[in-house]
Amino acid sequence: MVEASEEVYSSLHRRFKGDLLRPGQSGYEDARTIWNGMVARTPGLITRCIDVSDVQLAVRAASKTGILTAVRCGGHSLAGFSTCDGGLVIDLSRMRQVMVDPETHRASIAGGCLLGSIDTVTQEAGLVFPSGVVSHTGASGLILGGGTGWLTRRFGLSCDNVAGFTLVTADGSVVRANSKENPDLFWALRGGGGNFGVVTEFEVQLHPLRSVVLAEGLTPESGIRGLLECWRDFMAEAPIELKWNIDLRLAQHTKKVLLELRGRPVASSSLIWTGDPEAGRPYLHRALAMCRPDSVSSKVMSFLDLQTMADSDFPHGRRYYTKSGYFTYLDDGTIDRLLGAVASIPSSETQIELAYLGGAAARIGADETAFGNRSSPFILNLLANWSEPSADASHVAWIRGTFNKLRPAMKPGVYINFMSGDEQDRVPEAYHERWDRMVAVKSHYDPNNFFRLNQNVPPRKPAAKSS
Ligand SMILES: Cc1cc2nc3c(=O)[nH]c(=O)nc-3n(C[C@H](O)[C@H](O)[C@H](O)COP(=O)(O)OP(=O)(O)OC[C@H]3O[C@@H](n4cnc5c(N)ncnc54)[C@H](O)[C@@H]3O)c2cc1C
Repeated sequence: MVEASEEVYSSLHRRFKGDLLRPGQSGYEDARTIWNGMVARTPGLITRCIDVSDVQLAVRAASKTGILTAVRCGGHSLAGFSTCDGGLVIDLSRMRQVMVDPETHRASIAGGCLLGSIDTVTQEAGLVFPSGVVSHTGASGLILGGGTGWLTRRFGLSCDNVAGFTLVTADGSVVRANSKENPDLFWALRGGGGNFGVVTEFEVQLHPLRSVVLAEGLTPESGIRGLLECWRDFMAEAPIELKWNIDLRLAQHTKKVLLELRGRPVASSSLIWTGDPEAGRPYLHRALAMCRPDSVSSKVMSFLDLQTMADSDFPHGRRYYTKSGYFTYLDDGTIDRLLGAVASIPSSETQIELAYLGGAAARIGADETAFGNRSSPFILNLLANWSEPSADASHVAWIRGTFNKLRPAMKPGVYINFMSGDEQDRVPEAYHERWDRMVAVKSHYDPNNFFRLNQNVPPRKPAAKSS
C-alpha cells in the first residue's frame, strides 16, 4: 500500500493544484482526522483537491494503481468511510463554493460544502435548502444518502431537491446526471451514497424561508408512555409545516433543566413550525401539553440559529456508535421496550432519537429514487456518544442489545446515513426492491468497485469468457 500511495504521489505532484499531504508533513495530522473519534486511521496520501480537474487527476492515478480510496466531504460518516489505512483520501474540503440564483430559486453547490456553507449563502437571498440539523455536517454525504432534517416534511428530503449532479466517475470522466442526461444514474444518486463517483457539483432547488417557531419541553419518565402514544397518533394527522422530534435520554445537568430532572430519564421534545406562527399555535399547544409545563419554551428563531443550535452537542473527536431502523407504527410493545432502554442508557450524551417523516418526503414514489423506505414514517436512531476509549465496549453493547430487542417490530430497511461501519450486511436491506437496479447502475459506472468505501453495492462480476 505504501508503494501505491508513493506511486500516486509521483504521478500527481507536478500537475495537482491542491495539497498533497503525506504522513509526517505539516497539516497531515489535522487532515487525517474525521468527526468520529472511534475511527482513527492513517492514509498514505491525502489529496486535497481545489477543482474538478484535480479530482479527475486523483481518481485516474488511484484507479491505475488500484489503491484503496476514500472520498471525503465533511468527514461525518458515522461508519468512518471517509478515511482508510495506508490508502488514498480524496478530500473536497477546499471546494466549498455556493452560487445562488434568487430568480429561479436554484443553487449550485460544490462537492466539499458543509451544511453551514450552504445555509449562510442561501439565507442572503432569504432561501433555504432542506438538509440536516448540524451545520458542520458535510452536504455531499448527507444528500447522496437521502438527507433528513427540520424541513423534510415541508419540502422533502435533500435528495428530492436535487435537479442535477456533476460527478467524476471511476475512469476519470466528468458525467452529468439529471432527468434527461443519464436518468438511471440520476435515480441512483438520490439515496445511493458514494457508490458511483465523486460528485463535484449539485444543482439544487431552494425554498423561501427566513425563520421558524421552535418549541421545546421535557416529559419526565412517568409521562413518556403517554407522550409517545400521543405523538404517534398526532403526527399521522399533523400538517406538513410541523416537525416534532423526540429524544429519549438522561436530562442534562444544565441551568436550562429543572434540578429534580437532571440526570433522570426524560423525553425531550423539539418542535419546529415552518408556517405562519399564528396558524401553528394550536398544534404546538396540543403537543406541549404532554410536557412538564415548567419546562416548556417557545420562540421565533432565525433559520441560521435553528441550523446551528445543535452544533455543540455533537463535537468532533468524541466516540460515536449508531444503529437505526424504521417502524410503520409504534406499537405498545415497542413503547415498552423504548422505556426499558432509556432506563438503562449508559451515558448522559447517549440518546434514542425518534423522528416522524411523512409529509413531502412521503409524496415521492418508492421507485422514483434509490432512497429507502418512505412508507414507514417512524425513524429510530440509537446514537451512543462518549469520550473514554475504556467505555467503548459498554456503549457498543448497549446499542446492539437495544437494537436487537427493537428489531423484530421494525419494518425491514435502514437509512444508510445512520448506519455504523459493521453493518455492510444490511445494505441490500436498505435498497430491498431497488437492489437489482442499484447493482445494474453500479456495474455500468463502476465495474471494478473503485468506490467501495461506502454502504457498498458491489457490481456484478464480469461473465467468464468462453474459450
Ligand atoms: C453530527 C452529525 C449530524 C448529522 N445529522 C444528520 C441529519 O440531520 N440528517 C441526516 O440525514 N443525516 C445526518 N447525519 C448523517 C450524515 O448524513 C452522514 O454522516 C453523512 O455521510 C455525512 O456526510 P459527510 O459529507 O460529512 O460525510 P463523509 O464522511 O465526508 O462521507 C460519507 C460518505 O459519503 C461519500 N462522499 C462524501 N462526499 C462525496 C462526494 N462529493 N461524492 C461522492 N461521495 C461522497 C463518502 O465516500 C462516504 O462514503 C449526521 C451526522 C453527524 C455526524
